[in-house]
Amino acid sequence: LFVRAIGETTDVVEKEMYSFTHHDEGLTLRPEGTAGAVRAYVEHGVQNHEPVSRWYYMGPMFRGERPARGRYRQFYQAGAEVFGDAGPGVDAELIDTLCRMLESLGISDLTVHVNSIGSEGTRVRYQDAVRAGLMPRKEQLSADSQRRLDTNPLRILDSKDPKDREAVLGLPPITDFLTDADRAHFEGCQAFLRALGTPFVVDPLLVRGLDYYTRTLFEIKGAKDKLGAGDTLLGGGRYDGMVKDLGGADVPAIGFAAGMERLLIASDLSAAAPPVDAFVVGMGQRALIEAAVLVRDLRAQGFVCEADTRGASLKSQMRRASASGARVALVIGDQEIDQGVVQFKDLAAHAQRPVPRADIQKELAAARAGAAS
Ligand code: AMP
Repeated sequence: LFVRAIGETTDVVEKEMYSFTHHDEGLTLRPEGTAGAVRAYVEHGVQNHEPVSRWYYMGPMFRGERPARGRYRQFYQAGAEVFGDAGPGVDAELIDTLCRMLESLGISDLTVHVNSIGSEGTRVRYQDAVRAGLMPRKEQLSADSQRRLDTNPLRILDSKDPKDREAVLGLPPITDFLTDADRAHFEGCQAFLRALGTPFVVDPLLVRGLDYYTRTLFEIKGAKDKLGAGDTLLGGGRYDGMVKDLGGADVPAIGFAAGMERLLIASDLSAAAPPVDAFVVGMGQRALIEAAVLVRDLRAQGFVCEADTRGASLKSQMRRASASGARVALVIGDQEIDQGVVQFKDLAAHAQRPVPRADIQKELAAARAGAAS
């Protein structure tokens, strides 16, 4: 599936895919989400049930890349696909919505790069032009790109190697090779973006690493201060031929994928742990058992509860209670068990009083409300 959809001579397929045999069956860890979404679309004949489908996915992807900040071998992508709409308006809607989403995450200095690589015929004609343009300078290219000149010359355009970058500067832009229909589509997309007020730059070197794209391509970069060179937050584009190539009807489609780790780094979002309502301290074997039951019951009632289950000294447990940030320590010893109470210790106020077991829930709720006000 991936070789067919992404392309045999792309980096993802050629170098990065984890493929192996398991119980005599070939298996590949998915490197991206679109090919699988398209296969599901085709298998279920979705176009027979609805004219336009809008799907999303989230999950781990796997590529054997050199790990760096924001680049991992297992990473998480969130992506979306729109099937059944060939018009340029949906391309602009997707790009604009993504900009709003990134802004809502607090990510600044966004740059939207767009390009069109036209339809299949354009790509073939442009490949010939790139090959012809670079052949006389073959020796100046990186070893990888010298090989790509035969197999997949478009890949040279987004090579990071300084030698390649220099060599491609003199090439005509792919937009010179667009058919009238492709050009009208690209101009339409730009007109929608302008109307929506989304700034963008047309980047003729943007070809992206997967072969399935047609027409509109885009990448959104941002938070360079945090991400450095790997500042591509998300990327996507049209793949109008893939549904048909994989055995389905002639259904146009467009999608994007964002690296969730990159979004986290770029946004400074952090998942703050909820405050601990109570830290249960049990003194002695009987109390440890009581403590286990109490913790379970309080958690079931919705309180965030921790306990020291090691049977450590009172001092050591109290130190952990403070370190946990808990508002209250509930201390249980033999005497408390016999009396059906716990010592309810307000850790901020350093005040302690016995509270009947039946009243703990009420008292903890009051302590939580007091902390919130
Ligand atoms: P792609 O599927 O290559 O178009 O990548 C789309 C987005 O996925 C990129 O813009 C990154 O945010 C993210 N991404 C791709 N490869 C990796 C990786 N190895 N580690 C982390 N994020 C990645």
